[in-house]
Amino acid sequence: MNALPNALPDRSEMLRAFLASDASYDGVFLTAVRTTGIFCRPSCTARKPRPENVEFYASPGDAMFAGYRPCRRCRPAAAGADVPEWVARLTAFADRAEDHRVTAADLRALGIEPARARRWFQAHHGMTFAAWCRARRLAGSLARIRAGGSIDDAVFDSGYGSHSGFREAFGRAFGAPPGAGEHVRTVALAMIDTPLGPMIAGADEHGVCLLEFTDRRMLETQLKTLRRRLRATLVPGENAHTRRMRTELAEYFAGARRTFDVPLVHPGTPFQRRVWRALARVPYGATCSYQTLAKRIGAPRAMRAVGAANGLNRLAIVVPCHRVIGKDGSPVGYGGGVWRKRRLLELEARSAR
Ligand SMILES: [Zn+2]
Repeated sequence: MNALPNALPDRSEMLRAFLASDASYDGVFLTAVRTTGIFCRPSCTARKPRPENVEFYASPGDAMFAGYRPCRRCRPAAAGADVPEWVARLTAFADRAEDHRVTAADLRALGIEPARARRWFQAHHGMTFAAWCRARRLAGSLARIRAGGSIDDAVFDSGYGSHSGFREAFGRAFGAPPGAGEHVRTVALAMIDTPLGPMIAGADEHGVCLLEFTDRRMLETQLKTLRRRLRATLVPGENAHTRRMRTELAEYFAGARRTFDVPLVHPGTPFQRRVWRALARVPYGATCSYQTLAKRIGAPRAMRAVGAANGLNRLAIVVPCHRVIGKDGSPVGYGGGVWRKRRLLELEARSAR
């Protein structure tokens, strides 16, 4: 998802096409069903859900990063008739690989140049092949988070057979749930939809410890770090802090909130914590360079380390790493993508007036 919102037909038109299983709309949009965590082609013959539970996406990647798994009946993430033979071969290979990472060596073994794959997926799906594979790998876990444990039995209709596939996928990506009787700290993971795409919020009983866009490359690493640092188990669900985060984030995107009041849990090294505290003091609507930030924490020569700590921030938007820009004012790299950083800075500039 490179430039939201994606161009889609009217909701009423898409709903009509979907309910009629109109195959002429295949390739134009995809339908996702909140109660099953599954997405389909418009022509899919699986049982039709209630219209209020249907969402629409422009690409399989968008649907997967939003927490939906491809239907096994209509296979909406599989290559269509008009894709090159080598792409069909590649997606079939990625299908079989399921949760395993497809490496550059795998690509070469298939006779495909990684750079070519990257360019093709970027042009046709708005994301690199690596991001596409990550979307496939995480789709089941993200579906569990979006559903929060309430996926209904219509899952049977889509070829998954039972809910267990979703639970297993979550365990593989984010760590197994605790055994019976085991007392562990838990972090609830909830999905929050924003105008810039879906985010995952994580919170234990003390506060929010994670806020990140679902398509961010670092997401899996951040969750691993969190589990280790907090000695916690990650569980799909909500608590008072994730709910408050959702409310405050909606206010932020409406231009009605400049700072966040939700309690935060942000474990890190003493240096990282200094950087994150300094970040938190960059005012709404303002920007700051790595150089300035390094000076502010009394380590003017540690620019590189400041940049690294900035990139390891687990609380996007709340700890405003998007307010760090290049010395020349350019929007240097951002974990969530430079296009998001631009949109956040525009929103703040507009609302700060
Ligand atoms: Zn389907």
